[in-house]
Amino acid sequence: MVAEVACGGRTLPVHLVCLGNADPGVPAVGFFAGVHGLERIGVEVVMAHLESLVRRLRWDSELNRQLEQLRLVFMPLVNPGGLWRGTRANPNGVDLMRNAPIESQESVPWLLGGHRISANLPWFRGREAAPMEIESQALCDVVRAELFGRPFSIALDCHSGFGATDRIWFPFAHSTRPIFHLPEVHALSQIFEDSHTHHRYVLEPQSRQYLTHGDLWDYLYTTSADDASSTFIPLTLELGSWLWVKKNPRQIFSREGIFNPLIEHRQKRVLRSHIAWLDFLTRAASSYRGWVPTGADRDRHLKQALNRWYGRPQR
Ligand SMILES: [Zn+2]
Repeated sequence: MVAEVACGGRTLPVHLVCLGNADPGVPAVGFFAGVHGLERIGVEVVMAHLESLVRRLRWDSELNRQLEQLRLVFMPLVNPGGLWRGTRANPNGVDLMRNAPIESQESVPWLLGGHRISANLPWFRGREAAPMEIESQALCDVVRAELFGRPFSIALDCHSGFGATDRIWFPFAHSTRPIFHLPEVHALSQIFEDSHTHHRYVLEPQSRQYLTHGDLWDYLYTTSADDASSTFIPLTLELGSWLWVKKNPRQIFSREGIFNPLIEHRQKRVLRSHIAWLDFLTRAASSYRGWVPTGADRDRHLKQALNRWYGRPQR
């Protein structure tokens, strides 16, 4: 347990589960979910992956060998108070994904981009100059302790509720500028697309959809980028819930239904299809030396990535 959250007279725990080698010299993957309390499906994806790994540890010698050279970190429910209350925000009304001390200098959408008007409105960042919320702080502490300072690490934060397709977002959310590790993200996309030819994800920088203030991953990424000896890539899985709404229009009348697939067989299919992505990230981190580009290869990935995602002509 890394934190305790007060919620309507109760105290709810924020759990952390770590598997594998704690040595900071080995790569790591962190799986996070439930930052937004309503988005239960992400929590279930991460829990299903953890459960399957723990079961396999009993017999799978290859997995045991992999974990001798890899750290896996799970924080499957960052905002237990939000889940308990069925709200996106935490019990203080703060949207944790708008809560980090990072400001967009560009034009963010009104309210959605994060604001300090009132905790009664969605996407509230918290009061000016207030410390980060307990849950946001716990997430940042875990990322710094477990993922920073390693030669290579990936974080995956699972969300739902945006758009009709499943998306994989990389930073920035606060700026349309490309990140320093854009070539690494492009190389990762390429090995994923090569080995999963029929995948249905849209891979893109979050800034292609909308900009926000206070994004926790932008904040963590910008502080990690000071350390040139390590590569930290935070990714967000955004499960496109509008598909489920289209298939079952009655869901639109239930607030929970917009964010979570309500029908059980559909939910199982959602879990199965995304576990392949979580498993891919684990393998990619394990074998990062085999695909992280260097030298001229890195320059080539940078050019291709700028062309693909930032609308710049190739030179
Ligand atoms: Zn979310």
